[in-house]
Amino acid sequence: MAGPVSFTAEIRHALYALTPNPVEACIQCGTCSASCPLADFMDHSPRQLIAMIRAGQRRAVLASNTFWICASCYQCTVRCPAEIDVARMMYALKRYAIWRNQCEREAVTRDFSRRFMRMVVRTGRSWEPALAPAYLGRRGLRGVLDEARVAAGLLWHGRLPLWPRRIRRRQALRRVLRHIVPVGGRS
Ligand code: SF4
Ligand code: SF4
Repeated sequence: MAGPVSFTAEIRHALYALTPNPVEACIQCGTCSASCPLADFMDHSPRQLIAMIRAGQRRAVLASNTFWICASCYQCTVRCPAEIDVARMMYALKRYAIWRNQCEREAVTRDFSRRFMRMVVRTGRSWEPALAPAYLGRRGLRGVLDEARVAAGLLWHGRLPLWPRRIRRRQALRRVLRHIVPVGGRS
């Protein structure tokens, strides 16, 4: 009887659905980390994260902020000599962490991802007035005033709707999203 699937194999499978090159193809050259504009804000660089996945360090990987910080610029992917789609691996890790409900750190980025995804699933659109207030306080009074100024400008120019708009055929969108993210928790 087959034993439990290892963490490395789970991530490899998640990545295989998107790209044929699994993390085992990584030669640890560090090009992805050197190319990453956000590496300074990550507690583990993309190269280190791949090494940790290969070492089966599930807990440390899921506790890392790296994949939540990733801005999906795809610099790492286009420069990787082993043709590993590092950016999509970051997406795979987000989905995995949410699916397994194993986000061990109260990260703003993780919380924001969840709120954003819920809103898109519900309405088909992003609506900033519902997303922003939860984070305004974290930047202090100066941050609140800055955001209020930006919001006033957007409102003035009609770029910030006062009420959330919903798209038509939301069920069709949800069906598409279910293939990408585990909408509604564990699946
Ligand atoms: S660029 Fe590719 S091969 Fe090099 S460390 Fe990053 S993932 Fe590995
Ligand atoms: S896609 Fe993410 S990990 Fe890759 S270079 Fe951009 S920010 Fe860094």
